[in-house]
Amino acid sequence: MTENDPTGRTRALLKLGNWPIRRDNLPADRAALVAAAWRTGNRNIAELAHVADVTRDVIYADLRSHGIEPTDPEAKKEPPVSPAALTSQSARSLLLRKMKTLFDDDRGLGVLVEYNGRPDMTDHEKTMQRAWTDALISLHGLSRAAGVYSAYAKDRQLEVARSGLSVGSWDNLVLGTKPIGAWVRDEHDFMCAVCGGAFPSVLVHDFDPACLRCARDVSEPGRAAPLWKAYTHDQFVFPGWLRKELDRGESTIRITFDDNEERAYTAGDAALLFPKTTRLPNFTQRSAQFGCESRETITAIVEARTENEGRTFDILATFTYDPRPEGREPHPYGFRFTAARMTPAHLTEARTTEYTDVYELLDDLLTGLWGGNPAKSREAS
Ligand SMILES: [Zn+2]
Repeated sequence: MTENDPTGRTRALLKLGNWPIRRDNLPADRAALVAAAWRTGNRNIAELAHVADVTRDVIYADLRSHGIEPTDPEAKKEPPVSPAALTSQSARSLLLRKMKTLFDDDRGLGVLVEYNGRPDMTDHEKTMQRAWTDALISLHGLSRAAGVYSAYAKDRQLEVARSGLSVGSWDNLVLGTKPIGAWVRDEHDFMCAVCGGAFPSVLVHDFDPACLRCARDVSEPGRAAPLWKAYTHDQFVFPGWLRKELDRGESTIRITFDDNEERAYTAGDAALLFPKTTRLPNFTQRSAQFGCESRETITAIVEARTENEGRTFDILATFTYDPRPEGREPHPYGFRFTAARMTPAHLTEARTTEYTDVYELLDDLLTGLWGGNPAKSREAS
């Protein structure tokens, strides 16, 4: 590497640029560890403060940021959770499992001219991937969906690396979209590591996503791998957020109580069935009712209808509010899906099916809306 090596200079600057992200994430990392320690049974504030080498006030704040009120005697009495239970069946792991099946057949090489327009996918496969991506973003919010997608895409990129596939020539790359305004930083690694543009198309130096223009400056085609991208990649991309801004990744539902107090609650899974947040087609919400045992114990019952090309589905779903955050997310989980009944209203002999798994509901709904293979019928229970 010579003193004037522009590649070395750029890379050193990139690494420096990543440091503030790591620094900003440190308090959130600590808060997640403190909350996990508490949930697994470590309820002694002094001990937590000593081990984490921070003040007791910091421990209190960390616990509260994860929905734990350490001064509440009831919270202290809650039975400890096993470390495995903290992570198993989390919303993120279920989402990742869905993405693994959704993108399994997607070669993800659309950035190569050869795959431009995606001849490797049928029109129906494209429609279903778009519909599922919209539904997953509605259900989880863009930030969680984008974060899990980004992690999945990195795994698929390893396959590209193992196959030894390189760009070969810059002419083999589809011309990138015009760069939009550069982001300052991004939480989910979507941007070009050199210019901050939103549409990187190759991976240079084994780990830096770069757009074609920047890749030409800092690398060579034989050392650049095509960037793996699902067909619906662009639906997941959004301007980079700082971790402290991530609460905007979730929408809220406002509830007015009998005493006229109004509070905003994290929408959670219920965002799937609210008009401002859903991406379901021709959507109408017929009613939304809230049963409130207290300001924290709330049930939502939502009636909604969605339609595509004459195929109409009526959904009646219940959700329960969960004030605890999911993993390191800096906001409550929000309304969790409990159960639903769905009726295909366009059929003369409409049969109502009951669901307790939101992915099974979506499977039947999306297949029904877009007229794919008829869903295997489930007995109404
Ligand atoms: Zn760039």
